[in-house]
Amino acid sequence: MQNNKSIISQRASQISPSLTLSLSAKAASLKKQGLPVVSFTAGEPDFDTPEHIKDAAKLALDKGLTKYTNNSGIAELKQAIIQKFKEENNLDYSADEIIVSCGGKHSLTNIFLATINAGDDVILPSPYWVSYEEQIKLAQGKVVFTHLPELKFSADVIAEKLTAKTKMIVLNSPSNPTGAVITKKELKRLADLAIEKNILILSDEVYEHFVYENDDEHKSRSIASLGEEIKKLTITMNSFSKTYAMTGWRIGYCASEKKIAAAMDALQSHMTSNPTTFAQYGAVAALTMKEKSSAFVNTMIKEFKKRREVMVNRLNECDGVECAMPSGAFYAFPDISNCKLNEKQLNGMKLSELLLEKENVAVVPGIAFGDDNYVRLSYATSMEQIGQGMERIEKFCRGN
Ligand code: GLU
Repeated sequence: MQNNKSIISQRASQISPSLTLSLSAKAASLKKQGLPVVSFTAGEPDFDTPEHIKDAAKLALDKGLTKYTNNSGIAELKQAIIQKFKEENNLDYSADEIIVSCGGKHSLTNIFLATINAGDDVILPSPYWVSYEEQIKLAQGKVVFTHLPELKFSADVIAEKLTAKTKMIVLNSPSNPTGAVITKKELKRLADLAIEKNILILSDEVYEHFVYENDDEHKSRSIASLGEEIKKLTITMNSFSKTYAMTGWRIGYCASEKKIAAAMDALQSHMTSNPTTFAQYGAVAALTMKEKSSAFVNTMIKEFKKRREVMVNRLNECDGVECAMPSGAFYAFPDISNCKLNEKQLNGMKLSELLLEKENVAVVPGIAFGDDNYVRLSYATSMEQIGQGMERIEKFCRGN
């Protein structure tokens, strides 16, 4: 290039590729080469998308529903989402407050681009899911990392980070990667704080169905349902990927007040147009064929609950590993800061490298989520794979 101009924009050069995706791809490629790799990397249910959802998408294709749709989603899907919010989250939204997108990540990007100005502070409780940081940077926001002691969400810790520049607080409950669920008490305190300071809340609820404790304190809750004032400040985001094992379909959605929804609609109209038409019809079936869908979801959650216990208990048997039982999502997030190899302390990055190299087990280093004292293991994989992988991790930790 002339004049030492870089081909790559500053915006793109400050972004790192997603470590969760790149490590999953690496594990898949090693497997393809014949290595017996057990992968605990990407958070992706190993269940197949239910038949009734696939059938609805196939029917849409057969009917020729392959053209553009309304930019922010077909009316049937918006209606089904409105109904879902009403029944499951105690939230009332209208069609012009709903934006259907090409997946959860797309919804998040829409949200940040529609609301964040250059230099706005965005509070990101840490550990956090890998893509928030980069998406906020893309929107030129300033990421304000907010360490949560003992991985527990606390409104007081957030309060300490608020300044005149704070525009938004990111919530993700149940959390990827920790599995922690924000308690009712902390949610209420945060809502009061946001109202007092007039700060937006982004509530990422993609793991809302993946909760394993049934008491009142631990069940998932939408912060927007706590009252009209907080609802106005909240953008509630969700996706079909995890709940209905539809990761590849790329359908996400969010609800917010009209002004924000209109801004996202405009952005989306230039960036992608509508989400894939026949995938939207599949999503309609996921929400409206309730009996079949909830039977599927219940089976999956029951299975994940068993896997969670096996994985976490076995992790806690390993020398130097300490893992809290996650209340939700489908990840174990053990503290490995006391793990050693030949008397040398390991961090998440080193341990992940060694596990892959020596034991053919792929895990994600905690650095992807802002804390390399940890590694993340997804238990959304078969019990057989969990058994094999854990055996190898135990062997590694015994040092033989
Ligand atoms: N959200 C999943 C994960 O954290 C899928 C991969 C990704 O998008 O990061 O593993």
